[in-house]
Amino acid sequence: MTSISESTKTLLKKHGYHLAGTHGAVKTCLWLNKSLRNTGACYKSKFYGMTSHRCIQMTPTLVCNHRCLHCWRAVEVPVEIPPVWDLPQDIVKGVFDEHRRLISGYGGSEFMDKTRWKEAFSPKHVAISLSGEPTLYPYLPELIEEFHKKEMTTFVVTNGTNPEMVAQIKPTQLYISLNAPDEDTYEKACQPLGNSWENILQSLEILKDSKTRTAVRITLTKGVNMVDPQGYARIIGLAEPDYVELKAYMHLGFSRKRLSQDNMPSHDEVLEFSRQVAQAMNYQIADDSRGSRVVLLSKDGEKQNIV
Ligand code: SF4
Repeated sequence: MTSISESTKTLLKKHGYHLAGTHGAVKTCLWLNKSLRNTGACYKSKFYGMTSHRCIQMTPTLVCNHRCLHCWRAVEVPVEIPPVWDLPQDIVKGVFDEHRRLISGYGGSEFMDKTRWKEAFSPKHVAISLSGEPTLYPYLPELIEEFHKKEMTTFVVTNGTNPEMVAQIKPTQLYISLNAPDEDTYEKACQPLGNSWENILQSLEILKDSKTRTAVRITLTKGVNMVDPQGYARIIGLAEPDYVELKAYMHLGFSRKRLSQDNMPSHDEVLEFSRQVAQAMNYQIADDSRGSRVVLLSKDGEKQNIV
């Protein structure tokens, strides 16, 4: 039994999502594919030393309380909260089984780097950031713990609407997505189900005292939220994160129904906006990746590998 209807499952499958357990999902990303072919790696490999072909992208739930314009998922199709949540061990097993099955499918290709392909069966990283809001899964701390027991690093990306859970989790790197410098822009860009702006500010304050590596991520959408760099700087200042990632909106998945190509800023526009945010909060540009249109800021202009 799953909490996801058959029609939604078909839609998700069409877009490359595979169910793990009854409500989690896993998807192999473009960069894993490129890394297996030895033709490129994700910006997280450049910024933090992650190995793209050994990274799993998953979510414990596809339920979300936002309907962001930039989201690649079909936010218009609601996913119900399941009557019973899967246990963390069952989600981890489901994720590994599905990930291995998907990797096996690449084995026959003559373009694969065979050494990398074998390594991909022993993943080292998990990005809990695929789609859906992971803090809505009540056993998220235990799920992170399960991955750590397997000596994997964990990245969690939350929209910050659930500060109680943000206070409890300790992944290797904890991100809060901040997609507006003020409440009006937040309503427009994220279309929350209920007003969560104050919760997001609270989560940012919690991030400041977090004992793990922290980051704030902004998805910049031209004509929507690429405004008021000083406003962003002021709010990010609540969190004093180790890193700030400013990334261009990419015109992919279901977001194509809500936004146009023109909403994608160029890398130079992202760089310029990032310079303004950095200057206003006294951070430095630590790195950037033109291919992914993303810029990394840190307090001292340095970056540290996670492993
Ligand atoms: S918070 Fe994330 S999953 Fe939820 S709608 Fe926004 S982009 Fe999509």
